[in-house]
Amino acid sequence: MKIYKIAAIPGDGIGPEVVAAGVEVMHALATRNGSFTFAFDHFDWGGEYYKKHGRMMPVNGRDLIRNHDAILFGSAGHPEIPDHITLWGLRLNICQPFDQYANVRPTRILPGITSPLRNVTDRELDWVIVRENSEGEYAGVGGRVHQGSPLEAATDVAVFTRAGVERVMRFAFRLAGSRPRKLLTVVTKSNAQRHAMVMWDEIAAEVASEFPAVAWDKMLVDAMTMRMVIRPQTLDTIVATNLHADILSDLAAALAGSLGIAPTGNINPERTFPSMFEPIHGSAFDIMGKGIANPIGTFWSAVMLLEHLGEKLAADRLMDAIKRVTADPRFHTPDLGGKARTVDVTSAVIDAIHGANR
Ligand code: ATP
Repeated sequence: MKIYKIAAIPGDGIGPEVVAAGVEVMHALATRNGSFTFAFDHFDWGGEYYKKHGRMMPVNGRDLIRNHDAILFGSAGHPEIPDHITLWGLRLNICQPFDQYANVRPTRILPGITSPLRNVTDRELDWVIVRENSEGEYAGVGGRVHQGSPLEAATDVAVFTRAGVERVMRFAFRLAGSRPRKLLTVVTKSNAQRHAMVMWDEIAAEVASEFPAVAWDKMLVDAMTMRMVIRPQTLDTIVATNLHADILSDLAAALAGSLGIAPTGNINPERTFPSMFEPIHGSAFDIMGKGIANPIGTFWSAVMLLEHLGEKLAADRLMDAIKRVTADPRFHTPDLGGKARTVDVTSAVIDAIHGANR
């Protein structure tokens, strides 16, 4: 029997609650499937680890997970530690060295979930956002001088490489071509950002010629926010820079009904290192320990993890189970206006997995 080695990094806030739920559901799915099992290794990295050791993960942390088949991540963030430390010390400290350059964020309105957009159905809002995940505005290049003096200056330099843009464009065109509508929107800001974003547009046009079956268009990021709200049905696959897609995907998650539902995969397409899957929400300290965190974003992330491992049948079975559960308002957590608790949603998804015909 195939054994998949999964590194679980629950992190902070509600991360441990939703990852525990995800692990439970994945074990149930493996039992139902019968042809594979999961061996989880748990890593206690994050804010509490930082308070003890002065760093978010051990120096050799990546060596401990580089041979796993995939990583299931919760959330990093701590009220007592600045956000740039928690982000760069853990999530980005894995994503960037592991070259997970394509961050993939599917957005759909699941059954039973109401979008804040009036009259929009799941047929009209079915997107995948591809976020460049290794460079751009989050390259980490820049510095500060004269701190604390009136001469203080700070820079954050966006770095775009031809290789980096080409590979994420190619990934996005290929993904768009694999979806029924074969439609890609390239997000840009090449009117105001006249160097890197112009190169981004040029490379998009070059890569497009390799994918004649994919129809594509270009949008300035500001106009894109309006199109997402006013004409959601005209979009399918979307590719954008690290910063632009970061913002657009939070908008997308809100339009799909709740931050608690949306999943993401940090993908290393060449599989030179493991890919990492996580709900898009943060550590949500306001609801930590209350048992009401919505675990659906983590379950959907597990669907993406299974797809990445090539376990299509199991991925489809889990997605079906998720949809059956969201369709029933008894299993809506408070973020969706319901009264259900994390454990109720988890048990309902496990019951649906065992009841599934697939
Ligand atoms: P971070 O700084 O780590 O990004 P945050 O608390 O600022 O964390 P989020 O965690 O993304 O940001 O949460 C924003 C809001 O959405 C919070 O009020 C939180 O309660 C709610 N929320 C986020 N995720 C969930 C979830 N899985 N279930 C229920 N509510 C959620």
